[in-house]
Amino acid sequence: MFNVCPNCGMYQVDKKVTIEKSKTVAICSHCQNAHPFQKRPLLFLTGASGAGKSTIGLRIQQNCKDVVVLENDILPFDKMPVSELALRIAKNIHQNGKSVLQVGCNIPEHVEKSLEKRYFDGLHYLALVCDSRLLVERLKARPKWRGCDTESYWKPQVEFNEWFKKFHDKVTPKIDLIDTTNLTIDQTEQYVKNWIQDKLTKNLD
Ligand SMILES: [Zn+2]
Repeated sequence: MFNVCPNCGMYQVDKKVTIEKSKTVAICSHCQNAHPFQKRPLLFLTGASGAGKSTIGLRIQQNCKDVVVLENDILPFDKMPVSELALRIAKNIHQNGKSVLQVGCNIPEHVEKSLEKRYFDGLHYLALVCDSRLLVERLKARPKWRGCDTESYWKPQVEFNEWFKKFHDKVTPKIDLIDTTNLTIDQTEQYVKNWIQDKLTKNLD
C-alpha cells in the first residue's frame, strides 16, 4: 500500500523523505508526487532469551494502549531480511496513528541499514538484561520440550545478555537498559511503560 505511488502507481521502497508545507512527505522518484505520511518513532524491546521480553511484551499489549506490540515470531524469516520486513509492517501500522513496539532479539546492527528506516522518527532500543546466573535459572525452569535447559541453548543467550551490558552504549544508536535482576514483573512493566512514554512524547512534540 504505502510503497505504491498514489499518483502513478510505481512501486518504490526508497522514496525521498522530506518536509513540504510543514508536512512530512515521501516523494515518488518517477512522477515526483509528494505523499504525506506519519513519521513516528519505532520502538524495539530486545534482550536475550529469558530476559523477560515476551512476558513484558504481553503485559504492554494488555495494559498500554499507546503502542501496537508485534513479535518477531510472526515474521516469515525465509522471505526477506527480517528487519526490512518488520520495518515495512511497522510503517504501515504507523499510518493508523500508533507506534509499534517490536519485541524480539533485535539490535541496531541488524536494523539500522534498512531502506525503510527513513520512514521513522528514530528507532529506539530498550534491552532487558539480568544477572546471567538468573538467566540460566529461568531458561532451565522452562518446560523441557522447549529445549532451553541445555548448555548449547543457554550459553549463547548468556553471551548475548552480557553483550548488551558491555556494548549497549557503544553502538549507534545506543541501547537503553533495564536490569530486571531485582525487579518484580510489575516493576519492570512500569519501567518499560515509562520508557515508551518518554520516547513517544519526546518525538512528537
Ligand atoms: Zn509516482
